Amino acid sequence: MLGVVWDDRFLNISFSHPMIRDMSKARIRKFIELARDSLSFVEIKPEQASEEVLLEVHTREYVNKLKEVSKVEHMGFLDSGDTVHYPGIFEDVLLVVGSSLTALERSKFIDQIYVPLGGFHHALPNKAMGFCPVNDVVITVKRLLNNRERVALVDVDAHHGNGVQEMLYKEKVLKINVFAYNGSFFPGTGRLEERGEGEGKGLNYNIGLPLGSGDDVFEDALSFLDLLEDFHPSYVLVVAGVDGMIDDNLKSLNLTPWSYYSLGKKVAKIQRNLGFNVISYGGGGYGENSYLGMVGFLAGLSGVSSSIVGLKGEKTSTDKDIFDEARKRMQALKKS
Ligand SMILES: [Zn+2]
Repeated sequence: MLGVVWDDRFLNISFSHPMIRDMSKARIRKFIELARDSLSFVEIKPEQASEEVLLEVHTREYVNKLKEVSKVEHMGFLDSGDTVHYPGIFEDVLLVVGSSLTALERSKFIDQIYVPLGGFHHALPNKAMGFCPVNDVVITVKRLLNNRERVALVDVDAHHGNGVQEMLYKEKVLKINVFAYNGSFFPGTGRLEERGEGEGKGLNYNIGLPLGSGDDVFEDALSFLDLLEDFHPSYVLVVAGVDGMIDDNLKSLNLTPWSYYSLGKKVAKIQRNLGFNVISYGGGGYGENSYLGMVGFLAGLSGVSSSIVGLKGEKTSTDKDIFDEARKRMQALKKS
């Protein structure tokens, strides 16, 4: 059964740069409209988290800062120019984290849950980064680890989930990261040699796709999800960021909604074999059609035909040079 965590307040929340905030909000609105029309799911009302929950991952100093800026009457930046703060942001942050924890709570009864406004994978313990004021993903993973669950994370987004990697680098969590990488594209992290340390040694996979990669390269990258079969997780968290789409304003990958449909389908197939719970997140997305990637992912995940959600058009194929480079990187990672 599919559950979608939803609160109408999501329609007005975005921590993105002022230039793309409206687009970010439109994505969430168009998503819920099409999802209600074309998918079947139960809507789950989120509960707001308490301030103390933030301290499970973030420093007291940083949480105090979030509270302070929330009282400032004008908009400003939490970092050097990406992530905004605005009046009342603290309440919104608590709602975002509460949404993820509500998903966790309800996952006892619903085996696939999606949090459209979630997956803030860049935030670090003491600072905001890349439109992410708090790290809802790490808070949730830490809770699962405390409950002795076996956790795997599939993070698909145009951008490497640096905050998640940093905070879970030494944890026994399988981390499969698929993102655009050329050494300098934001956030610049995600070398394939970064394989984890301590209990996390060998469990961190950075599949950095060359910029300009299309659906065919993405399909190849999905083969890394087979690692789930050996790891046997009891929970799989999926950050399904749709900013790798071809029409995204933060130009990186050339993906269409087909890639997100395939991602959902592949996760569901392995879930049927292994019987884990899925908690998934909407991640980033800053294009006219980002919402189609979100609905595509859920259609694949919940076993709805692609035609019902209106997926049509050609899949993108990648220029030979870029395709070969992607293959080379993936083979090197598989050998390491
Ligand atoms: Zn992103």
